[in-house]
Amino acid sequence: MRFHIILAAALTLAVPVSAQEHPPHAGTWTYGGATGPERWSDLEPANAACAVGQQESPIDLTGAIAADLGVLDIDWSPMPAAARDTGHAIQLDAPEGSTMAVGGQTYRLLQFHVHQPAEHLLDGQRFPLEIHFVHAGPDGVLGVLGVFAGVGASSAPLQAVIDSLGAPTAGPALDPNGFLPAGRDFLRYEGSLTTPPCSETVDWVVLSDPITVSQDQIEAFERLHPGNTRPVQPLYRRFLLRSGH
Ligand SMILES: [Zn+2]
Repeated sequence: MRFHIILAAALTLAVPVSAQEHPPHAGTWTYGGATGPERWSDLEPANAACAVGQQESPIDLTGAIAADLGVLDIDWSPMPAAARDTGHAIQLDAPEGSTMAVGGQTYRLLQFHVHQPAEHLLDGQRFPLEIHFVHAGPDGVLGVLGVFAGVGASSAPLQAVIDSLGAPTAGPALDPNGFLPAGRDFLRYEGSLTTPPCSETVDWVVLSDPITVSQDQIEAFERLHPGNTRPVQPLYRRFLLRSGH
């Protein structure tokens, strides 16, 4: 791994900046073109894992092995509806006090954000939206809960997110539990951030059952951040586990 990082850095330095068509600016990245996912590792040496990592996300969630993964215990509190545009996604920062516990570990909710279309595939199928609930665990590890959304009845908390954009003050309390499906079967694997620097520090938990959102709500995210979706990455030598019966 270390060798690959050094090699990637050396290759980057070997190309004079003046010879590059579009010299990358540190910290800027996009979902397409010269600063898109295939070039993220060229933008900064710190992004090397985006190209050479062996535990990258997202993946196609298929061929999961049934395992006793324990109970997924989500304990989220209502929060003010105050979404913001990070430049890459619509995000809502969570106040202290919401947690997720799984596998003997407790994670604190930091924020959630929306990808359109979904980043993970489920048995090769891509949903129109995927919401990522990013939690902090111990020692710099993150626990991210992914929730898929298909077309159907509208989602009240998602509408609160949309309505809060551009609003001068935070709206009434939004209940993030409204983003959860009734079923709690889930998939687990060790992966990465799906944005630069693609750090391989994420315990991924993805719910097997989707929720529904309306076509209008999907179109709202198509207007805001179309295609903020990293391509799927190889599984390599990892195990994909599913909570089993
Ligand atoms: Zn995400």
